[in-house]
Amino acid sequence: MDTDIRMLRLDPANADFRRAVSRAIKSRVQAHVVSEEKRIFTVRSSTDPAQHYVVRLAVPPNGLWLGCCNCPGGQRGYYCQHLTASAALSERLAKQRAATKQAEAA
Ligand SMILES: [Zn+2]
Repeated sequence: MDTDIRMLRLDPANADFRRAVSRAIKSRVQAHVVSEEKRIFTVRSSTDPAQHYVVRLAVPPNGLWLGCCNCPGGQRGYYCQHLTASAALSERLAKQRAATKQAEAA
């Protein structure tokens, strides 16, 4: 079932993507790590607190990040705030890891 979900390209040059980023910041959606290694996250729905959506990210070595979310918008191929919140969290974690490595090497 998961395999037929199309991955979206997280392209900062795309206006729809940028809108989803500001939406996520405004509504303060919180992404949570399910598996950092597999880049799986969950994000609570802002309209239904009982509902959680699952976000998967893929980071190709060269190129833009890919991602998909199982919320209604994400399944229709729209950029959603769950996706952008998860990408922001993933980026933050990667930076933290890099900083820790540097501190250890110093
Ligand atoms: Zn979503």
